[in-house]
Amino acid sequence: MNRHSGATHPARAGASAVLVLVTAFALFAAFRPQAHAAQEAPRTVRYLHGRIYTNDPQHPWAQAMAIREGNILCIGSISQVMLECGGDANTETVELHEKFVMPGFNDAHVHLGYAGAGQGMLAVRLYGAASVEELKQRLAASVASHKPGEWITGGGWDHTLWSEKQFTNKWELDDAAPKNPVLLTHVSEHIAVANSLALKIAELDKNTPNPSGGEFERNSAGELTGILKEGPAMEFVRSRIPDPPAEQRRRGITLVLADLAKNGVTSVQDNSEWEDFRTYKQLKEDGKLTARITEWLHFAEPLNDLQNKRAEGGTTDPWLKTGALKFVADGALGSRTAAMLEPYSDDAKTTGILIMEPDKLKSLAIERDKAGFQINPRRSPALCEAQSHRLHAALASNHRHALGRIPARGGAHQGCLCLGHARKKRRASRLRHGLSRRRGRPAPRSSRLRNAPAS
Ligand SMILES: [Zn+2]
Repeated sequence: MNRHSGATHPARAGASAVLVLVTAFALFAAFRPQAHAAQEAPRTVRYLHGRIYTNDPQHPWAQAMAIREGNILCIGSISQVMLECGGDANTETVELHEKFVMPGFNDAHVHLGYAGAGQGMLAVRLYGAASVEELKQRLAASVASHKPGEWITGGGWDHTLWSEKQFTNKWELDDAAPKNPVLLTHVSEHIAVANSLALKIAELDKNTPNPSGGEFERNSAGELTGILKEGPAMEFVRSRIPDPPAEQRRRGITLVLADLAKNGVTSVQDNSEWEDFRTYKQLKEDGKLTARITEWLHFAEPLNDLQNKRAEGGTTDPWLKTGALKFVADGALGSRTAAMLEPYSDDAKTTGILIMEPDKLKSLAIERDKAGFQINPRRSPALCEAQSHRLHAALASNHRHALGRIPARGGAHQGCLCLGHARKKRRASRLRHGLSRRRGRPAPRSSRLRNAPAS
């Protein structure tokens, strides 16, 4: 990192994820991974005559900046950048024509992969559906583009938007899609509804007992309603859905990346399937990965598998690497599956669902901590309070696990990501100073990926 002092305020190290609003293409092109540029000598690119917001309180605005190998060399007035930022015969100049430039957004929690937003781009989209009737209309429109017998998946329905505030059920889906198996995930991602054909394929009926950590909702006659609560219950149906062809997975992810770029998101913390990660890797090799991705792994996977994935995916590449272990300890408020210390005020029959027994959680956490993994639990506020101190005491390493609490969700899928007390303090300080976790990098501004599922 080449820093320049004097009148030009130096760029912060690594501040390369920059977004030009209005016409993003010029700079996005410049910041793409340099998959095919390895043989070319690195060169400096100067961007001139922009309205550049730096996020630096001392020098919030600049007219020009110079970039080399993905890093901002310097940023300031045009004369400062021209005179003080080096450059040579190879230096390229891009005229910004007063376009607005700012640091890109980092989204700290997304599911980009095929089972998340990727599939959502191809599947029936139910976000914002204002009634069951609208859900049925959108489903019927999707039926028209599927052959009988083909699986129809989708998600985003939110019963809190409907006047009756009740979940939908298999009979309502059957009205719209009698000949296709259907699985539609709630906006919280903690429950889903399956139609009769999907339940039949999954061999579920009223005699099937609830799985550990999940529930098949039943009506007063004991019949399954089609509502599947939490992963273990949803998995009975999901496991029957065939894997998408590689081309379909890549197509979905490509659409998501375009949506990220359109909304100014230049880096994400992602939690998807390993096949998705391999697809990101192919896209990177093809020079088509347009966001930096840190991939969370799944906490409950066998330790050996986690270590293999960490070895395969690496931990240092600035564009694509593995990161922390995410585990979901309980459900979400909107679906009444978030674990509570007392019964829900609007449903006295339940205190939510604890997905993993505390003792098992503790032993897995200790094992993974010793293996050098960072742990990011996602829990309800009640659980955060109850479990944080126990886990804090159990984990011996200096890894910055996420064990205190901050609110991470609103609306139907409210829960919390939990941050340790020491870390919370540091984070507050960083935010005050406009700095992100990476030393010296401009603070990211959270922007949740539109329509991304939440869990
Ligand atoms: Zn999640």
